[in-house]
Amino acid sequence: MSERNVIIVGSGPAGLTAAIYAARASLKPLVIEGYQAGGQLMLTSEVENFPGFKHGIMGPDLMAEMRAQAERFGAEFISADVTKVDLAGPTKKVWVDSTEYQGKTVILSTGASANLLGLPNERRLMGKGASTCATCDGFFFRGKVVAVIGGGDSAMEEANYLTRHATKVYLIHRRSEFRASKIMVDRAKANPKVEFILNTVTEDILGENEVTGVRLHNTVENTKRDLALDGVFVAIGHTPNTKLFAGQITTDDKGYIKTSSEKSHVTATNIPGVFACGDVQDSRYRQAITAAGSGCAAALDAEHYLNEHA
Ligand code: NAP
Repeated sequence: MSERNVIIVGSGPAGLTAAIYAARASLKPLVIEGYQAGGQLMLTSEVENFPGFKHGIMGPDLMAEMRAQAERFGAEFISADVTKVDLAGPTKKVWVDSTEYQGKTVILSTGASANLLGLPNERRLMGKGASTCATCDGFFFRGKVVAVIGGGDSAMEEANYLTRHATKVYLIHRRSEFRASKIMVDRAKANPKVEFILNTVTEDILGENEVTGVRLHNTVENTKRDLALDGVFVAIGHTPNTKLFAGQITTDDKGYIKTSSEKSHVTATNIPGVFACGDVQDSRYRQAITAAGSGCAAALDAEHYLNEHA
């Protein structure tokens, strides 16, 4: 079995940008892209804020372009999920079921997944009025009525943000207390376009081809009703996809991979030769362009490491 220079785990904007840079550096990266390749952009419709596309581009098309660009320079792809890793030591081992791959360096770019409510129509209506990212999709709701579901800082922030575009934003939360900080709650409450609907569980998202509303259950009054909406934003947190690396890679208390604060290798993890980029190590910005930027940095860091350890 030949040892690869670089194995990239994950294929969102971070992993694919790392692949482009590593391939152009003649490192012949192997990208284990996952069965659900392409990351979170595969769940969005139009991406209007990725520089270089003045008319916007569909999320899946952007990912297809990035993948083709990496392939053009010699990146190799395996369309499967990594099932096990052993990252200690100079030779890193990555398994897909019983097949073992070895690499001198590994770039972890498994992303984070927005938590979903698990409602019957939720996945089907994603990108069709349902979204997990106000910054990405808020613009499409100019002059419309939307709801944000959640009671944390993200929900408050998204509700406020969406009032730039929407005429009305309902903030639907299952309790009457908030996990969000007081200042964020106060800000949302002071916003005349935001209306709070509390003690209310969202039972389903309604709509055939696009969102038309939500079905709500008030748990205090034990009443149900349908609320008409043009869009619904699920803002109940994210989970970084780091389970696979547990016990090997150091994470923060929320499970995000800790990367170095050293300016020379900002994507370095606790294990030499293992780098991380994109949302798996970023709970703050979570944008395609910032993920892509960190993917570039990870590839350059890996290249530098390979030169140092040649
Ligand atoms: P979070 O703090 O974990 O809040 C998640 C919210 O979603 C909670 O209100 C929770 O309700 C609700 N929720 C979870 N599962 C649910 C379900 N199945 N059905 C209905 N509601 C559900 O997540 P976050 O708001 O994304 O924030 C993540 C971290 O980023 C936090 O540390 C936050 O402070 C930080 N952040 C900071 C800022 C800022 O300072 N500008 C902005 C955004 C995020 P319960 O409360 O009932 O459990």
